Amino acid sequence: MTTYIAPIEDMMFLFEKLRNNKNYNEIKKYEEVTPELVKNILEEAAKINQNIILPLAKTGDENPTVLENGVVITPPGYKEAYKKFIEDGWTSLSCDPKYGGQGMPKTVSAFFDEMLSSASLSFKLYSELSIGAYNCISHHASDSIKNKFLPKMVEGKWSGTMCLTEPVCGTDLGLLKTKAVEQSDGTFKLTGQKIFITSGDHDLTENIIHLVIARASDSPKGTKGISLFLVPKFIVKDDGSIGSRNGISTGSIESKMGIKGSATCVLNFDDATGYMIGPKNKGLSSMFTMMNLERIVVGIQGLGISEIAYQNSLNYAKERKQGNANNTKANNGADFIIEHADIRKSLLNMKSIIEGERALCFWLSQQTEVSLYHTDEKIRQEASDLVSLITPVVKALFTDMGMEITSDAMQIYGGYGYTKDQGIEQLYRDNRITPIYEGTNSVQAIDLVFRKLVNKNGDIIDKYISLIKKDILIKEEKINPFVKKLNENIEILFKFTNWVKEKSKNSKDDVSAACNDYLKVLGLVATAHAWVKVLEVSFKDYENNKKFYEEKIQTANFFFNRVLPRIESYYLTATSGSKYIMDFKFN
Ligand SMILES: Cc1cc2nc3c(=O)[nH]c(=O)nc-3n(C[C@H](O)[C@H](O)[C@H](O)COP(=O)(O)OP(=O)(O)OC[C@H]3O[C@@H](n4cnc5c(N)ncnc54)[C@H](O)[C@@H]3O)c2cc1C
Repeated sequence: MTTYIAPIEDMMFLFEKLRNNKNYNEIKKYEEVTPELVKNILEEAAKINQNIILPLAKTGDENPTVLENGVVITPPGYKEAYKKFIEDGWTSLSCDPKYGGQGMPKTVSAFFDEMLSSASLSFKLYSELSIGAYNCISHHASDSIKNKFLPKMVEGKWSGTMCLTEPVCGTDLGLLKTKAVEQSDGTFKLTGQKIFITSGDHDLTENIIHLVIARASDSPKGTKGISLFLVPKFIVKDDGSIGSRNGISTGSIESKMGIKGSATCVLNFDDATGYMIGPKNKGLSSMFTMMNLERIVVGIQGLGISEIAYQNSLNYAKERKQGNANNTKANNGADFIIEHADIRKSLLNMKSIIEGERALCFWLSQQTEVSLYHTDEKIRQEASDLVSLITPVVKALFTDMGMEITSDAMQIYGGYGYTKDQGIEQLYRDNRITPIYEGTNSVQAIDLVFRKLVNKNGDIIDKYISLIKKDILIKEEKINPFVKKLNENIEILFKFTNWVKEKSKNSKDDVSAACNDYLKVLGLVATAHAWVKVLEVSFKDYENNKKFYEEKIQTANFFFNRVLPRIESYYLTATSGSKYIMDFKFN
């Protein structure tokens, strides 16, 4: 079984030392979220994740969720753990106190999301979609719906889902067939089939609140005719108590490569009663509130799984002896494999990516809070543009890197990584869904290049590049080599951006064939930017925590010399164009 120690020191470093974000600090409601409070929360979070949830990862993999007589049964131990999980208030961490939440900022809940992803992604998914549904309802529903449904969801007694996918529509939601017929009392009757629904049914909560997209009878075809509905598993009476079963049944659950403890359901809606959320035919934009926040959380899943893969590889490399390292003086039998340059390179690759990603995620969490709660509308809008630019980057880069890191972890373990005992191959299998769901990573890249670089508020990517350039004007001699390297790569990003903008006018296939590379280039620049912020503190505060900061500086050194230069090859391959790709005749 894998082991896991929550990286609290690194998290607290970010929370305490990278707080000097003026706009974020101006949000009054977080004034009382002090480092002491956050440290207490993270210590408690570490306990439940390390002691109670981590063992469920293996249990869930070996005893997948089953459907018996129409009832979905979660793996052994899930029910008890979930009960403790909600009793301790973990579902309410980032929710509004008005509905019983603890009102913690995303800078804190993101750390919890990371720990939970490291411990067990399958278990995490039961509460994750509830938080997503909570966010969507609290942004778009009427007060009466909010008051009726949110307190129980915040408490964790009711969970939530996101029902988009159907047999014929995954990426292209405009093809959806589920119908919604309005009733005389203003409610709707929904009929259709949804597939691949995470936590679509299970035995952990008293009720399940489905957020379903469907087409009202008189709505147009395509994405312009999609509305959003709240459809509970059990009808909720006016006094808030649970009534009769709604017209929703579980057709089957998927047998999957990974996340086997998570129930991925086929749901059949047969005249199920639903309530419209937000305006008619604007369902997709309402649903995007949920999807955008979810995409960041899926990125964090990749980060969390990478962290546990790294920790276990490091431990293994310190214990496993094979061969002599190049600089061994005498033949002493065999050295620990951590002495081999190739293994060290692999470990540092993981560490430098993970710590850079965590710092980038912290920055994005701050921006998300500013975009939601700053009092100045202009500042809110600017932050919102940055969040929309970096969200697909975090989703796709972190989950792709998760594949690289879990694969490298398996490689460090050799044959013992491929066989089941150590739990390493499970990390690879569990992570494999993250580049697929919540919009595939290619779809993230398409979204980035065709919709996010420039929007109605202007040239967002240019504003972002200017912001980075301003941020890295640091007059600290020791940072210069890092800043110089980042500037060289910003130049490549700049050239690549101009190429994309130019090709977008009349050569869209060139852009489509380049968009995954573009996303990685932007992602690596963004991660390097986050690293520079970390370095700034590391040099300034060096004397106060030499060991910690020395490790940071050396890890950054690896990132800037070994990871960041990947940018050039992405740029060169992508800008070779698409003609030879599109002209090829597949037989
Ligand atoms: C375990 C699991 C859990 C899931 N949970 C949920 C859930 O809770 N709720 C929910 O609604 N859905 C859920 N899904 C569905 C998931 O979001 C979809 O599988 C995903 O969005 C891709 O859709 P698809 O499978 O239909 O693939 P398709 O859309 O058919 O795509 C197939 C391939 O074509 C590519 N592609 C598609 N369109 C384009 C394009 N325009 N340009 C270039 N390439 C393109 C894709 O990138 C992909 O590589 C889940 C799926 C799984 C497996």
